[in-house]
Amino acid sequence: MTPVLIVLNAGSSSLKFQVFDMLDGAEPRLVWKGLYEGLGGSAHFLVKDAGGAVLDEMTWDSGDWFGHEEALMHLVSWLSQFREERKPVAIGHRVVHGGEAFSRPVLVNEAVIQRLEALVPLAPLHQPHNLEPIRIVHRRLPGMPQIACFDTAFHQTQSEIASLFALPREMRERGVRRYGFHGLSYDYISSVLKDYDSRLAEGRVVVAHLGNGASLCALEGGVSVATTMGFSALDGLPMGTRCGAIDAGVVFFMLREMKLTPEEAERVLYTKSGLLGVSGISNDMRVLRSKAATDVDARRAIDLFVYRITREIGSLVAALGGIDGIVFTAGIGENDAATRAEVIAGLAWAGLTLDEAANRTGGPRISSQSGPTAWVIPTNEELVIARQTRSMLGAMQDKLAS
Ligand code: ADP
Repeated sequence: MTPVLIVLNAGSSSLKFQVFDMLDGAEPRLVWKGLYEGLGGSAHFLVKDAGGAVLDEMTWDSGDWFGHEEALMHLVSWLSQFREERKPVAIGHRVVHGGEAFSRPVLVNEAVIQRLEALVPLAPLHQPHNLEPIRIVHRRLPGMPQIACFDTAFHQTQSEIASLFALPREMRERGVRRYGFHGLSYDYISSVLKDYDSRLAEGRVVVAHLGNGASLCALEGGVSVATTMGFSALDGLPMGTRCGAIDAGVVFFMLREMKLTPEEAERVLYTKSGLLGVSGISNDMRVLRSKAATDVDARRAIDLFVYRITREIGSLVAALGGIDGIVFTAGIGENDAATRAEVIAGLAWAGLTLDEAANRTGGPRISSQSGPTAWVIPTNEELVIARQTRSMLGAMQDKLAS
């Protein structure tokens, strides 16, 4: 059987997976990708080849329990039967929070699982779902190497000053600091900058990861020096349903004056705010764009999103001491030419000018000739997890051989 790596990204009712061949010395090669959705209800499995053609599909009746565990066991058995029979030799997981302890990918064992569980309060809406498949594999497939790859790790290069809040020292000692997220995406962008423009790889670049979750990262020579997200994935830019940076006083107002419980306040900030909260319509940029010409609420939500991005880019340019380029990535960054155009219009002061024709067709270069450059680069977080997993596996094998 052909050995493969599985990359998993688990949500509350979904499990996304990608399957990579491990070719000697070369980049891991994507063979299949798919997802289970509706887990715990009427579950659906869909798998496509690397080019996007549907290969297989299945639905389970909501009467039969089909959760994350059933999905994982189904995936392993499906892999062993489908076409050339592939056997997973390691599983790489996306884990949103690595805290202070994990500044690089880690081989999972019982002690690591416990340390990752202790980080749940720092990412209450993501971390528990990320850990679910790790626990299942640990129990059901003992001996299968599992590598946890973190969204926070890429930002560990930041200076102490960039990572501090102006809070009492005891709080810093308890781990209250800026961590930053979307690091797997920034790692990917950093790794491919040289293929687009060698000067960018050495220079000062702001990367705008604009998806359902959104943040910015300042790269200098390819490493993170500042980012908009902080202690939790709530900070920084407004997002699909998250508020982004707000005055902490608002939280006290919600608790004291509005009498919300901490859980209710948390739900408002994570799931009812952002583009959805401001528009009252949708968290989906496509929907908002389709209504923006006639609906003031849709327009206001987009305007606030763009205004905050532009202001925060100004802050990162100050942190970098200038700018050589900007990169747009993730769902909105890669697909929404209007958002890119509006952000670049707000950055004329930094010498950025838009090449409108290139922007309409998705670039990759969307700036005109002089001054800092602007780019559209599709992100690939799963490939970074596959790279990290294979490199950890290689290190383990070397250790065993020596
Ligand atoms: P996630 O953070 O869940 O991975 P994505 O990176 O998939 O999110 O981004 C989702 C966002 O991308 C949504 O707001 C969606 O509306 C937006 N998006 C996707 N395709 C387009 C498009 N063609 N035009 C505008 N927005 C788009």
